Amino acid sequence: MSLTRRAFTRHTLLAATVGLSLTSEALAAGSGIHTVKRGDTLSGIAQRYGTTVSALKRDNNLRSDLIQIDQQLIIPAQAASNYDPLHTVRAETARIQVKRSNWKAIIAHHSAIKKGNAESYGRTHRKRGMQNGLAYHFVIGNGIDSGDGQIEVGPRWTGQLQGGHVKNHQLNLVAIGICLVGNFEIERPTRKQLQSFTLLVDWLQGSVLRRKVRFAGHREIKGEQTVCPGKNFPLKTLHRRFG
Ligand SMILES: [Zn+2]
Repeated sequence: MSLTRRAFTRHTLLAATVGLSLTSEALAAGSGIHTVKRGDTLSGIAQRYGTTVSALKRDNNLRSDLIQIDQQLIIPAQAASNYDPLHTVRAETARIQVKRSNWKAIIAHHSAIKKGNAESYGRTHRKRGMQNGLAYHFVIGNGIDSGDGQIEVGPRWTGQLQGGHVKNHQLNLVAIGICLVGNFEIERPTRKQLQSFTLLVDWLQGSVLRRKVRFAGHREIKGEQTVCPGKNFPLKTLHRRFG
């Protein structure tokens, strides 16, 4: 009984908060909401959406630059449509020397679990004995532990290190691993995840490697014995685009 009341109170409070935000011009104009994740800064969020720190502070009535994990920020409509999932990837890649001739394949994976992000998978892979941590080069979030469609850059990309995402050692040396968060045997990748995946592969082939490299889903590789990236991952469609 008391639990129900508490839930009710929380619900009412939430409704009150949302009601309050709705009066804001920004939300009325159809803007998005960004849920603050670990490591987010106001300036980073502003950059990602192509807006400014002062615009974010104004629209969210913030008095300082301090934000908290799970805090929800209103993203001005204009900025929300500016969102560029490659922004961080481009910035981090600009700082490194890409071993262009080394990379000969791009392999798609699912994480096979509903939740997680680059950091949590990295921890798991390290516990499994991978000294370079996160086995993939990139992780694309589904909105639970990182943004929906957010592309996280792993240390193996910034360090131009071999992947640990397939069993075949020779292939790990030359294949870029991209993992989408989710279990696509059960659920489907989000629209934004697929959009970001396509943008990322287009950009890797078109601007970074400057050539078409082999594209494959993990299970399509001989001897791998896996269902990855899951039956709901649209491999067929993507092959039409990436060969
Ligand atoms: Zn896989």
